[in-house]
Amino acid sequence: VALVDDDVDLGIDVRDRIYVNGRWQPSAGAGQIDVYGAATGRVIGRIPAGTAADADLAVAAAREAFDGWSARSAADRVGLLSALAAGLDQRASDLARLITTEVGTPIKLSEMLQVAPPIRNMAGLAAVVESQPFSERVGESLVLREPVGVAAVITAWNYPLQQVLGKIGSALATGCTVVVKPSEIAPLSAFAVADLVDEVGFPPGVFNLVTGTGPEVGERLVAHPDVDMVTFTGSTSTGRRIGEIAARTVKRTALELGGKSANVILDDADLEQAIKVGIANCFTNAGQTCTALTRMLVPVGLLPEVEDLVRARLERYRVGDPLDRTTTLGPLASAAHRDRVRDHIRRGIAEGATLVSGGAEPPEGLPDGCAGGYFVRPTAFSRVRADAAIATEEIFGPVLSVIPYENEEEAVAIANSTIYGLAGAVWSNDPTRANRVARRLRTGAVDINGSFFNPLAPFGGYKQSGVGREMGTYGLHEFLELKAVQGHAG
Ligand code: NAD
Repeated sequence: VALVDDDVDLGIDVRDRIYVNGRWQPSAGAGQIDVYGAATGRVIGRIPAGTAADADLAVAAAREAFDGWSARSAADRVGLLSALAAGLDQRASDLARLITTEVGTPIKLSEMLQVAPPIRNMAGLAAVVESQPFSERVGESLVLREPVGVAAVITAWNYPLQQVLGKIGSALATGCTVVVKPSEIAPLSAFAVADLVDEVGFPPGVFNLVTGTGPEVGERLVAHPDVDMVTFTGSTSTGRRIGEIAARTVKRTALELGGKSANVILDDADLEQAIKVGIANCFTNAGQTCTALTRMLVPVGLLPEVEDLVRARLERYRVGDPLDRTTTLGPLASAAHRDRVRDHIRRGIAEGATLVSGGAEPPEGLPDGCAGGYFVRPTAFSRVRADAAIATEEIFGPVLSVIPYENEEEAVAIANSTIYGLAGAVWSNDPTRANRVARRLRTGAVDINGSFFNPLAPFGGYKQSGVGREMGTYGLHEFLELKAVQGHAG
C-alpha cells in the first residue's frame, strides 16, 4: 500500500483495504467511497466503504490486544509513539500536500497547522506521560489510574491528521487500544498514519483503521458492547446522536463539538489589531475551524470604523488554488458543505443584516482548473442581531458576523447567548477589565489580546460544544479509569 503519491493531484490515491489486527485486509463489503479534491471537485482518492462487520472485527482485535498493550510500561508505549511521530515528520511535506488537496487548506497553513503541531505534540507525549502519577497513596488507599479499554476514535474532516493523532496519542500512551474511523470526506492522511503504524511495529490489534460512513461504521462502533469509550470530534448534532447511543451501554464519551465563538472587542482596545487578529482567526482554513471567532462583538459607536477595517482586511484575501503558496483562502472541503455555507449567506441577507463584503455568488477570477472547486467568497455581515440565525448557528465557513453592543454587561450576555461554549476572545488595554470579562465567558478557552495555542492547556467545550478535554495531561485523563485499592493482600 503506497503512502502518498508524489503527485497526488495527478494520480488517484486508491486505498482498497482496511487495517485490522496488524494486517491490511479487504473490507467485508464491496463498496467504495470517492474522495474529492477541494479545489478541483475531481476524484483524488478512493477508500473502502467499510461495514458493521468490519467494525466488529476491528473491535475484537482491539479487545484481544488490550491486555498485552496495557501491561506494557508507559515508556515502552510512548517509545513506539515517538517512532511514529518521527516517521510522520519525515513525510510531513507529502502529508501537507495531501491534506491541502483533500481539505483545501492553503499549503503554507497546512504545513504550519495541519501537520507540524500534531506531530510535535505526539513527540512531546513522553514528557507528559512521565509527569503522570499513575498510582498514588490517598490515606489507606492506593489510587491507580488504569486505561479505560478499547476506544473508538471518530473524527471530522477539517483538521484530519491533528484529530487522529491527538486522540490516538493520548489513548495509546495510557494503554488503551483503538479503532479509528476517520471522516469519509478527508480520510487519506489516516491511511498514511496506518502505514507508519505498520512500519514502526505496534503489536497487532493495538491500532485499527476502518473507513466508512458514520451511520454504518461509526454507529456500530459507538453501540458495540466491547468498546469502552468513544472519543469524537465533529458536529454537535452528531455528538448528540453518539451520546444517546453510547448511553445504552453506559460508555464513556469525550466529545469535541461545534462552536460559535465570540470575539469581544471592548471600547478601550487596539481596534486595528483586534480586527486584524480576529479576522485572521475567523477565516483560517476558510472558517472550517471549531474555535473560529465567528462573532465579532463591538461597541455600537465604533460600527462604521469597524466595518471599514473589516472590509479592508477581507479584500486582502487571495482566494485560489490552495497548492499555490500565495493563496491565503482556499475552498471548502466538500460540495455539500459549500452549498450549506452559501445558503447561510443568503439567509443572512434575507434576515436583513448589512453585507459588508463577499456574498453567496462564487468568487471571480479563480485560476484555471479551480472552476469545479468548492469556493466561497470571504464574507462579513454587520449590524447582525444577536439572535439572528447567522449569529447563533455554526456556519463553519468564511463568514463573520459583526454584532453591536451597548455596554460590557450586554457584550458578556451576547457572548454567552448561544448553545455553544468552545472558545472566545477579549480585547482591552485594561488588564483588569480584560480578565474580568474573560472569567465571565462560559467557554473552554479565552484569548486575551491575541495569543498562541498552548498544547499543554486543556482543550474542549462548555455547554453543547462538548464533553471532556483534550491535550496534555487533561487529554490523557480522558482515557484513564480510577481504581481505589484498600486493605492488605496476602
Ligand atoms: P460530522 O459530525 O458530520 O462527522 C464527524 C465524524 O462523525 C465523521 O467521521 C462521520 O462519519 C461520523 N459520523 C457521522 N454520523 C455518525 C453517527 N451517526 N454515528 C457515529 N459517527 C458518525 O462533522 P464534520 O462535518 O465532519 O465536521 C465538522 C464539525 O466538527 C463542525 O461542527 C465543527 O465545529 C466540529 N469540530 C469540532 C472540533 C472540536 O474540537 N470541538 C474540532 C473540529 C471540528
